[in-house]
Amino acid sequence: MASIFTKIINGDIPCHKVAEDENFIAFLDINPNAKGHALCVPKEEVDKLFDLGEHMYLQLMQFSRRVAKALEKTVDCNRVGMAVIGLEVPHVHVHLIPLNSMDDMDFSSKVSMTDDEMAELAAEIRQKLQ
Ligand code: 5GP
Repeated sequence: MASIFTKIINGDIPCHKVAEDENFIAFLDINPNAKGHALCVPKEEVDKLFDLGEHMYLQLMQFSRRVAKALEKTVDCNRVGMAVIGLEVPHVHVHLIPLNSMDDMDFSSKVSMTDDEMAELAAEIRQKLQ
C-alpha cells in the first residue's frame, strides 16, 4: 500500500508544498513542533534513510539544505535543526525544524497553526527558495 507521503506526492492528499523537483518534495508538517517545521521527502518510497542509495541520500541532503536556507530566511529562528525518525511514517523524510530553544526539538510539544496560516507560510518559503 502506498505511504501517506506517496499519496501526497501523487496529489491524492493535499499538503502545503514548499519545494519540489524531479526526485524530492518538501511540505509543511501537518502537526508542527515549531512554525515552519517542514518535511523533505524522496519520491522513491523507501522506508529507512540509510537504505537509500548513496546518490539519492546525498541528493536528499542537498535538497534539504536548500529548503533549510529558505526556512532560515522566512522564519524568525536561531537556526534550523534536522532530525530523521520515521517511526510514524515508513517513508524516508528529513524533519527541518526552525529552532529557538531545545524545546522545539521535542516531538511531544506542538504549535497550532490554521490552514490559512500554513498556506501563507508555505508561499513565503517558496518565494525564498533560490
Ligand atoms: P516520523 O515518522 O518521523 O515519526 O513522523 C512523521 C511526521 O509526519 C510527523 O511529524 C507528522 O506530523 C507528519 N505527518 C503525518 N501525516 C502527515 C500528513 O498527512 N501530512 C503532513 N503534512 N504531515 C504528516
